[in-house]
Amino acid sequence: MASEVQRNNSTIKDIIQNNKEWVDDMLEKSPNYFANLAEGQSPKILWIGCSDSRMAVDVLTKTNPGDVFIHRNIANRIPSEDLSALSVIEYAVKHLKVEHIIVAGHTGCGGVKAAISNGSVGILDHWLRPIKDLYIANKAEIEALPESERADRLGELNVIQGVSTVSKLPVIHEAWKEGREVYIHGWMLQLHTGLLKDLDVSVVGLDQIKDVYKLQ
Ligand SMILES: [Zn+2]
Repeated sequence: MASEVQRNNSTIKDIIQNNKEWVDDMLEKSPNYFANLAEGQSPKILWIGCSDSRMAVDVLTKTNPGDVFIHRNIANRIPSEDLSALSVIEYAVKHLKVEHIIVAGHTGCGGVKAAISNGSVGILDHWLRPIKDLYIANKAEIEALPESERADRLGELNVIQGVSTVSKLPVIHEAWKEGREVYIHGWMLQLHTGLLKDLDVSVVGLDQIKDVYKLQ
């Protein structure tokens, strides 16, 4: 049944065909490409971004399979109690020993736009609620902007909060105490230009963290 569905669906058929063509191209360039890739991964970057289909990390950063460990969810949230995000971060930092963590939002984010509106989006209302709280906490700054810029500024603040959350995690502090260099960055993908904007909020060590967050 599954193969019948597949045969009748041109989008899926194209994807399978594209995959075969990509495999052929890669093998032509490097006959051992997949044998080498299958041996393991040692990415230097952890990317935490939005699920939006336009945030095609490998394509827009010209990176290759094996270069970037990735966690994505709607509106690139990093709740400090989210087991999925915490597992990804801990595995990336402790075991893969990534050197850079990039929290990346994007302009025109549907999740952020929903959070700034009164429309209900089902279960997502719960997921996006903290972004509403962030909006309320920064209402004066956001509402001083033209209406067309408000959601994108809230998206930036959401990224900045994500950087702050990651920088307070014990697993990051342990890495820093071991003398390892782990940089946490906040970026925004500008969909209308394709360019990544560095929000200039990078955190690089314990001296940037308030004492109350430092655990023994
Ligand atoms: Zn988004």
